[in-house]
Amino acid sequence: NPNKVNYDPIKDATWKHKDRVPYSALARTLEEIESVSARLRIIEILSNYFRSVIVLTPEDLLPSVYLCLNKLAPAYEGLELGVAETNLMKAIAHSTGRSMAQIKVDVQEVGDLGIVAEKSKSNQRMIFKPARLTVKGVFDKLKEIAKMTGHASQTKKVEKIQAMFVACQDAEARFFIRSLAGKLRIGLAEQSVLQALALACAMTPPNQQFPPQQLNASKKMSAEAFKTDECPSYDQIIPVLLREGIKKLPEYCKITPGIPLKPMLAHPTKGVQEVLQRFEGLKFTCEWKYDGERAQIHIDEEKVHIFSRNQENNTSKYPDVISRLNKCKTEKVKSCILDCEAVAWDREQKQLLPFQILSTRKRKDANEAEIKVQVCIFMFDLLYLNGESLVRKPFIERRSLLKEYFTEVEGEWVFAKHLDTSTMEEVQEFLDESVKGNCEGLMVKTLEKDATYEIAKRSHNWLKLKKDYLEGIGDTLDVVVIGGYIGKGKRTGTYGGFLLACYDKDNEEYQSICKIGTGFSDEILQTHSEYFKQHVIPQPKPYYRYDSSLEPDHWFDAVQVWEIKCADLSLSPVHRAALGIVDPEKGISLRFPRFIRIRVDKTVEDATSSQQVAFMYSGQEQVKNQQQSVKFSE
Ligand code: ATP
Repeated sequence: NPNKVNYDPIKDATWKHKDRVPYSALARTLEEIESVSARLRIIEILSNYFRSVIVLTPEDLLPSVYLCLNKLAPAYEGLELGVAETNLMKAIAHSTGRSMAQIKVDVQEVGDLGIVAEKSKSNQRMIFKPARLTVKGVFDKLKEIAKMTGHASQTKKVEKIQAMFVACQDAEARFFIRSLAGKLRIGLAEQSVLQALALACAMTPPNQQFPPQQLNASKKMSAEAFKTDECPSYDQIIPVLLREGIKKLPEYCKITPGIPLKPMLAHPTKGVQEVLQRFEGLKFTCEWKYDGERAQIHIDEEKVHIFSRNQENNTSKYPDVISRLNKCKTEKVKSCILDCEAVAWDREQKQLLPFQILSTRKRKDANEAEIKVQVCIFMFDLLYLNGESLVRKPFIERRSLLKEYFTEVEGEWVFAKHLDTSTMEEVQEFLDESVKGNCEGLMVKTLEKDATYEIAKRSHNWLKLKKDYLEGIGDTLDVVVIGGYIGKGKRTGTYGGFLLACYDKDNEEYQSICKIGTGFSDEILQTHSEYFKQHVIPQPKPYYRYDSSLEPDHWFDAVQVWEIKCADLSLSPVHRAALGIVDPEKGISLRFPRFIRIRVDKTVEDATSSQQVAFMYSGQEQVKNQQQSVKFSE
């Protein structure tokens, strides 16, 4: 029982040394996790399971970690689960003898196919007991299923799922089906999995003699998970962890061309004055902020990869860019990682086109001859060059290496336009110029001090100055839709409003931030309603935070991110966003929110965080003035 206090990784495990880990051990662990909401407890339960795997069957640690994250491979391999719900229902129906209609009714009622699957199985009598499933067996099968494509693959998938489902017992059925559906729905974020792994390694170090020497590691939760920033691939990390131990990870898991890095991100600001204040005494540069999509270009000898902001592999989207790569890199470049923005480009008018045009480009397997939307690549950073990581070097050095090793080609490869200045007038003028040039505004970056490339971080050393929001709050917010209010009058039959939430990374919860009912055309409202009707859940998730006065008619699974503009942020007695950060009892809410668009490129965990909301709130002039006056009156 992984929930046990003073867990013994050998005695308390349900399998023996060198046996494959039974899938039931993992399912049991996930079931325990689902039943608790305290994050430290979740980490402890998961780390108990990992400890047993580390001492008894270390080769099953990798598939265990992947199954906990509900992933099959690093994001850039593009191998995704997400079998259509009807196909899963078919498999359940075939292997339990229940009808599709019965299953559908149950799903309507319970709101979760995993639970329905488990219940359907428990009513079924088995003539003979099938062989027990193992973690490795399930993981390999899921991979096989995800890889199946082409003609008749759906039928074959259903057959494979059915064969596995027959062998599922108890909670195994729930998690097997949820894995296939693409979501474990237990609120287990990657950060917690990493912390559980770090804790497991501290208490039961890998690569010890069996039986392991029990170290007197303190049971205090290590708040620090190990960093996977430079090498975000468990395929690389886990074997090193088991062979060399946690301390050696940085030595072995380094930046490698071909493995995408999470990008450095910027903080919003509301005006030139704020930028100058924040960077007072520092050397900085202003760059045009291009309105396209991020492209991290990796070159290793002849191999080239292009990755998106979210580490998806976009290589096959840009065959045109790849075929002209030799024009921009000099012969001195053997390997490199470039950070760039790919922007739609009008070759005749020689001008930048907005993001909307770029988004019409084919996303995968583009054929160079058929490409209609041309792109120009704007290079703004160099993270790796000829076998050496540059991320710890200051930007001024990285930029000069970029210019030394790469060349510009008009309309194809261009260095981001920049201006190194510190006068208010010049920054303002440059901002106006960027807007006239069809850009979103400026990115302002430190050059010498505090100017390393901070992987995966929203840094204060990069500031964004967007044209649209200068008078407002500096930026839009990206929030998660968690509930819907049924429309009245003209909006009968659709949702008339929605409940939105930000994401609190520390507590892994969604906190309500506002209701929204404006900014939608009737057509968009219809689309949203159809989409969310498929994601209704009977009860709010245990990790949704809201006030009962805001209870929506329908709760939704956290599946979609919306970009929202608002007039300002204010303290709220009912909303829970950033509760406890700015005020011990009040949350923060958005005033006059307006829908802008769906952020297809963001996952729900990438939504604006509570910390960012608190930061935006405190950055507002009126709030700053109030805080000043409080200080004075003190
Ligand atoms: P977030 O809101 O999470 O910061 P986002 O995807 O909404 O991210 P923005 O905040 O609008 O992006 O701005 C950051 C993005 O701007 C970068 O990810 C990059 O794609 C783009 N960009 C354009 N020009 C530059 C530049 N010169 N330097 C850095 N990023 C740039």
